[in-house]
This record gives sequence, structure tokens and C-alpha cells, in this order.
Amino acid sequence: MNAPLNIAMPAEAAAAPKSYRLLIGGRFIDAQDGRTLERSSPGHGFTVSRYAQAGAADVEAAVQAAHKAFDTGPWPHMKAAERATILLKAADLIEARLDEIARLDALESGKPIAQARGEIGGAVDIWRYAAALARTLHGESYANLGDAMLGVVLREPIGVVSIITPWNFPFLIVSQKLPFALAAGCTAMVKPSEMTSASTFVLGEILMQAGLPDGVVNILAGLGADVGAPMVSHPLVEMVSFTGSTRVGKMTMASAANSLKKVAMELGGKNGQIVFPDADLEAAADAAVSGGFFNAGECCNAGSRLIVHEAIADEFLGAVKALTAKVVVGDPLDDRTKVGAMISADHVAKVTGYVTAAENGGGRICSGGNQLASSAGQYLDPTIVRDVTEDMAIAREEVFGPVLSVLTFESIERALHIANNTPYGLSAGVWSASIDTCMSVARNVRSGTVWVNTFMEGYPELPFGGYKQSGLGRELGKRAVEDYTEEKTIQFHRGQRTGWWVG
Ligand code: NAD
Repeated sequence: MNAPLNIAMPAEAAAAPKSYRLLIGGRFIDAQDGRTLERSSPGHGFTVSRYAQAGAADVEAAVQAAHKAFDTGPWPHMKAAERATILLKAADLIEARLDEIARLDALESGKPIAQARGEIGGAVDIWRYAAALARTLHGESYANLGDAMLGVVLREPIGVVSIITPWNFPFLIVSQKLPFALAAGCTAMVKPSEMTSASTFVLGEILMQAGLPDGVVNILAGLGADVGAPMVSHPLVEMVSFTGSTRVGKMTMASAANSLKKVAMELGGKNGQIVFPDADLEAAADAAVSGGFFNAGECCNAGSRLIVHEAIADEFLGAVKALTAKVVVGDPLDDRTKVGAMISADHVAKVTGYVTAAENGGGRICSGGNQLASSAGQYLDPTIVRDVTEDMAIAREEVFGPVLSVLTFESIERALHIANNTPYGLSAGVWSASIDTCMSVARNVRSGTVWVNTFMEGYPELPFGGYKQSGLGRELGKRAVEDYTEEKTIQFHRGQRTGWWVG
């Protein structure tokens, strides 16, 4: 029996919780009915933040502010170079406050602080990439329609955009959406998760400081039903960019369909890493462990299914198990931590429920499997379950915890069948020294990203998104700004127009 994890209380525990107010029309204000929402640090158990809790009246005020900023404000009419300058200034200010923002995300989500710093650094890079794209956005011209006609296709900002984000990568995910919407000339309402809103409010401060005109970005903390739902159904909103669960994503799409809004959906995943006997097994074992347990498995991209050739299953699992034993679980604010706290007690129960059900169905736990005793907060032991079969819930559903399910195969056809046998299609990995094997898997797996002899890397240049029920549309990549535009066709006629219909 291991000693309970000793979680040190940070300085914040002795201070009053940090307070955040809604950003509407360029001002930080309380909710109209004065309600507030508190967030407790899942790693430490003290109240870390208090946000103004928006309701229907605040959503209405934010939509009106965003609509006014779009309709009569300078933002959509500025030169792209001017918008890019503000985005670049924002990137510099994020970088200057990187440690502070990372600490807020670590305290509110329970993620390890060193990882959080990496995420904020990644976000800075994305803001800079979006600024560059602002200046390359352009339409098309058609001079091949005869001498009397010139066709011009404009890319115009789509209008007011609602951006709704989850709790697992609070600052990174808003940074995959907002800078591109702004680069296009849109105005926005942003709703972070009710559990991790602090860093998005800091972003609001940064954007105002960077010179963003009032009302261009409005930030609302609050619950999905009170705030997210009206942000989706409001008739003045033209587009919804949502990242979260497939369940809420489907509800969001259905609601958006009533007013035929454009939607972009980044949803859940059940990603498999396929390991062949000729792979670099040391590298693959490392990726199996990081893929399964990064962000405590609370990751859409988690490599939650390890699909390993039966000829090497025992040897490979031995290596994975040995590496898992070295994973440091504990205080999110400790620089050595790799797996921090779970987001909530309810979520711990959900994750452990999947493990118990798998065990009852014939799965064998070969590592972890338990909640760890700790002086504060909630922590799960990285868990490996073998003898998992395709019909088990743990093999099909998004567990969203530090749980690796192991399935075996004997042929490439079976490996592909297992990999594709899920309603999701976000990402996949393949490990083999054979280019033929890698290419066969990469071409036949139904997922938006396939990593070949690597896992979970990301670059602003590369589009990211899901097949099947993992989403709709792509984020990042060179077309990321175009997503937030409408196309307008203009036909210029030159010279005398001769009537052709009634003569
Ligand atoms: P969630 O769906 O519960 O919540 C996401 C957001 O939607 C939150 O801000 C929430 O308040 C809001 N919301 C809830 N009900 C709503 C409603 N009726 N209308 C509008 N908005 C509403 O997801 P979560 O638990 O915060 O995040 C975890 C999920 O996000 C996982 O499924 C994960 O895979 C997914 N995710 C996907 C990606 C990706 O890029 N594909 C990235 C990160 C997370």
C-alpha cells in the first residue's frame, strides 16, 4: 500500500479567490442579476476563482455588443495589416503573462504546470500564425468569362461568431478558434467551460490592452444551458464554433439548424495506436504511455486504445507497464508531475465505472485501476486493461481518463477493422518500420489525423479535426481563416448590355 499523495497547498489557498467579471462591449461588468459561480481547484480542493455568472440578459447584451461592433464598428473594415498588428500584440502580451496563465489553467483544470506552460507557448504560436493568415486571405478573380465580364469572388467575414470551449485545454482551444475569427474580421462571443474560465478572462484583458475595439470580443462565464444554448440559437449569430463532447455537439448542431447557422464541431475521440512487430518498440512504448496518460487521459486525442500485434503483445505490454510505473502522478503545481488531478469527483466515478465494467466483462487490469489516496484533490492511477474486446464500452466509448485499453490483432486487416470499429474518427497512430504497412494503415484508417511513428504532435500549419462523430470541419491550417468567411460573387459587366430575354 503506497502512502497517500501529499499535496502541498499553494499560496493561492490562503488568499481570497480571484474574481472575474464578464466582458461585454469593452467593459468588465457583473452579471445583471448579480449571480456568481465558483471553481474549486481539483488538485487541492480550495476555491480558486469566482466568476460573474451570465444569464439570458447578459447573453443578449453580449450579442447586441458583438452585432454593433460588426455592423457599425471599425473591425471588419480595417486593413488586414491593422488587424494582424493587434493579433501580434496580443501574442506578445500572452507570452509576457505565460506563467500566470499556465498557473490558472493548472489550478482550475488540474493539469500539470509544466505541460500547461507548453500549451500557452503553443497558443502564442497560433496567435502569430493567425496574424500571418490575416494578411494572406484573399478571394478569386475570373477574367476568362469573355471580354464583357469580370467575375470577382470576395471573402467577407461571416459576422458574429459564438465560440464555446471545454475544460480540458482551456487556453489552447480558444486560441485555435478566436484568432482566426478575428483575422477574418468577425466579432465574437466566447463561452469557456464553467470549470475553467479564468484564463479566457485574462485573454479578454489582453485583447483590450492590445487595442481590440470595444465589443469585438465578449466573454461570458456560465452554464451550458443558460449561456451556451442562447449563444447558439440567437438569430444575430451567424456561426457557432464548438469544441466539447459529441453529445452536446449534436444538441448544438440541431439548435443551430433552426436558423441555418454555419457550425464547426470538434468533438470526442476513441483513438487507436496500432503497433506492429517490426516497430521501434521502445519509441512505441513511450508513445503508448504518453498517448494514454497525457493530460490524465482527459484529451480528445488520447491514444486510449492500444492495438498491438499478438506476437509481441506480452513483451510490448511489459515495456509499457514498466514505463507507466515511472509516471509521476500528483500535485499539478509540481514541475515533475506528468499526471495531475482529475477534473471532478463525478468524472472520477465515471472513469472508474468503465474500468470496473471492463473487469466484470473479462478485462484484466495489469496496472493501476484505482483512485489514489491523497491529502487533497482527486487523482487516478494510470491504468492498463488488457484482454479488452471490441464490444466492451471501454473499447468503444470515450473514457476520458488515464486508462489504456489493450486489444490484439493477428493481421493488418484485423488491426484496421478494430481501429475503425468505433463511432469516432479523430486520430490514430501506426508504428512499423515498413513503409507499406504504415501507408496501408494511414490510407485506410477513418480519422482526421494519422501519426506515423510518432503520436500527438500538432502544428498550426496542419489542419485538425474529426471524421465520423468526432466533428465537422477542420481547425488550424492555411484555410483556418476562410472558415470564418462567406463567399460573395460580384459580376462586373462592361459596355452595352444587350437584352437577351424579351429582346
Ligand atoms: P461538454 O460538451 O460537456 O461542454 C463543452 C462546452 O459546451 C462547455 O462550455 C459547456 O458549458 C457547453 N455546453 C454544455 N451544454 C450546452 C448546451 N446545451 N448548449 C451550448 N453549450 C453547452 O464537454 P466538456 O466535458 O467540457 O469537454 C470534454 C469533451 O470535449 C470531450 O468529449 C472531448 O473529447 C471534447 N474535446 C474535443 C476536442 C477536439 O478538438 N476534437 C478538444 C478538446 C475536447
